Amino acid sequence: MIPFNKPYMTGDELYYIKDAVSRGKISGNGYYTQKCHSFFKEKIGFRNCLLTSSCTDALEMAAILLNIQPEDEVIIPSYTFVSTANAFALRGAKIIFADSYENNPNIDANTLAKLITKKTKAIVVVHYGGVACDMDTIMAVANQNNIYVVEDAAQAIDSFYKDKSLGSIGHLAAFSFHETKNIISGEGGMLVINDEKFDKRAEIIWEKGTNRSAFFRGEVDKYSWVDIGSSFLPSDVTAAFLFAQLENLNKIQKRRIEIWNRYYENLKEFEGKFRLPFIPEYATVNGHLFYMICNSENERDSLMSYLNTNNVFAVFHYVSLHKSKFYLKENLLKKLSNCENFSDSLVRLPLFYELEIKDQLRIIELIKDFYVK
Ligand SMILES: *Cc1c(COP(=O)(O)O)cnc(C)c1O
Repeated sequence: MIPFNKPYMTGDELYYIKDAVSRGKISGNGYYTQKCHSFFKEKIGFRNCLLTSSCTDALEMAAILLNIQPEDEVIIPSYTFVSTANAFALRGAKIIFADSYENNPNIDANTLAKLITKKTKAIVVVHYGGVACDMDTIMAVANQNNIYVVEDAAQAIDSFYKDKSLGSIGHLAAFSFHETKNIISGEGGMLVINDEKFDKRAEIIWEKGTNRSAFFRGEVDKYSWVDIGSSFLPSDVTAAFLFAQLENLNKIQKRRIEIWNRYYENLKEFEGKFRLPFIPEYATVNGHLFYMICNSENERDSLMSYLNTNNVFAVFHYVSLHKSKFYLKENLLKKLSNCENFSDSLVRLPLFYELEIKDQLRIIELIKDFYVK
């Protein structure tokens, strides 16, 4: 069986974990947490960042930082993972779902203006598969209306909008290091802070609502409860694991992008029978995931079962959130046709570091067989 995903271990993880343990301090914000922060600031160029236990945590921190209150409206693509919306629902926000483009699962930036009301506090965008949203348009609409932008960059490490790193454009951004992502630490995430007015409070929210970090820097003489917050920091053991992965970022990305390109090049001749990912000219490919779009739900399901019968595990993606039971308890069903079309007809193919060329070529052959038979 060719699995859908297989977490890649670089081989250096245990070395750094052993070192973290021998340093005798394994709680949060330790030696390896600092090393990861430095990596992101120096190598990727993020202005400020904080490791978290998950991307979900980073999104929850963003919702607290933006002071989201009950009745505030937050615009979110319906085609996304639950956490994108849940982090804001936790603060009582009313979620306003936006549609995708017809040819790209990302939030359709041209629909935003008509979704904005006096109550709109933030727009959360998701760079699906690491492919950039139309950030110039999104930032312009947000700035005109005094609205914050949060980038859910869970899948977007080492990817770009024009010459800007994804995660460096909105006011805040959230990354994931879950084992299904390009760079992993089992569970893990990071908040990126691009607007300096959030720096101080972010650190407090991160440290259970205390000014503990300022205390350890000697800026205050005791630390105490100063705001709401939670325990959003990962253990330094997790950070040590992550550091091993980060040191191999270029190697991992190179391989994943090669695999992405091999799918694209080999399946291209069949465009017309099904659709391949559309990459806008302002976006790059980071090899996070490869998908194809079938002509119907039936076709998608039979392709998936054909692959399955032939020992290839392919999966669909995102049940539209605007059609979820939870959302419909308090909201009317509206139609977001592009999003629904992706939910019904998109299939993701295996893409992981150790996917062998011969296995990938077998997957490609099976897809060709399915469409010519
Ligand atoms: C993976 C993912 C998340 C959740 O990440 P965790 O680190 O598991 O909390 C959120 N949003 C998107 C778009 C994701 O792909």
